[in-house]
Amino acid sequence: MFILKGIEQLENAIAKAKKVRPRVEFDRFGRYRVSGSKGYYTVICRKDERGIKTVACTCKASERGLPCYHSAAALSLHIGLARRQQTA
Ligand SMILES: [Zn+2]
Repeated sequence: MFILKGIEQLENAIAKAKKVRPRVEFDRFGRYRVSGSKGYYTVICRKDERGIKTVACTCKASERGLPCYHSAAALSLHIGLARRQQTA
């Protein structure tokens, strides 16, 4: 799991996601399944009551607190959905 402070920290992960092009499946708002080298990973995007955003993925990189490309791929969908919710 890592704390999302800004898009800069995801630059490398986004670049990898663009190259790998994983499949992102919507489960429910804030919960996505992303295809990886060993099947699907689950990515959870949360915002707590203080406004701190956290992203958790079930892969090894995320366990070590690194932003992985699964998280980057899920976040691009999540951010789009969050924007649409705010404007609705
Ligand atoms: Zn991951």
